[in-house]
Amino acid sequence: MLPAALEEARRGGARVLVLSPHLDDAVLSCAGLLSGLTDTTISVLTLFTDCSPGPHTRAARSFLRQCAHPDAATLFAARRAEDLDVVARLDARAEHAGHTDALFRRRAVPEAVGRVLPELAHRYPTYRFDIARGRVSRGDRALRRALADDLASRAPDVDLLLAPLGVGRHVDHLITRDLGPTWPGRVVYYSDFPYSLTHAPDAAFVRREGLRPHQLDERPGVKESLVRGYRTQVDALFPGGDVPRAPETYWSA
Ligand SMILES: [Zn+2]
Repeated sequence: MLPAALEEARRGGARVLVLSPHLDDAVLSCAGLLSGLTDTTISVLTLFTDCSPGPHTRAARSFLRQCAHPDAATLFAARRAEDLDVVARLDARAEHAGHTDALFRRRAVPEAVGRVLPELAHRYPTYRFDIARGRVSRGDRALRRALADDLASRAPDVDLLLAPLGVGRHVDHLITRDLGPTWPGRVVYYSDFPYSLTHAPDAAFVRREGLRPHQLDERPGVKESLVRGYRTQVDALFPGGDVPRAPETYWSA
């Protein structure tokens, strides 16, 4: 059984805001649910939709290679266009908040330093030891405040907020998740796919928020076709070529 807030949304008439850390996460994790909502106003608000000019870190260069896109600015422009197309196919509205992806987030150092060693000029110098460790940098505190303020201003127009649970502990996913507890209205969390195939949810957060899981196994074919609309990402996300079929998991108090 689904949480009451989702069942209500499925009966129609609700205004649903879906927070997506990156340009693909909401669809990867929630396409089955969202494609089944009719007579519902859905907005997909993606937070980290931009990059910064080089020189890039090794981690960022490796990501650009995986996406077969040598230039970050054109890659992100292509990703935003893909997202507008895919989200429109869900009869939803895509919004791009324009914040910089963790791989490209810079910190203030003299320019010459960043030219010699780009890692020193970035808030998260590596993927493995920084971004994927789930330790949000103190340097991101102002960003977190700005995100919370922006979100609070939307509360009067939203009946239900969907936020990622942050499975996999990518810092951008955790920053997005942490907006959930600041939300004055109803919030349901979603397990971050495909990270949910290999990582466990954060037990401390689940306990603190009193969350229980609910599975939804619907429209896997629709999800695959939508996910394939993220052409720059799909090969890097699913190197074997298959988009694995798995139920979606939603968490509510
Ligand atoms: Zn993501």
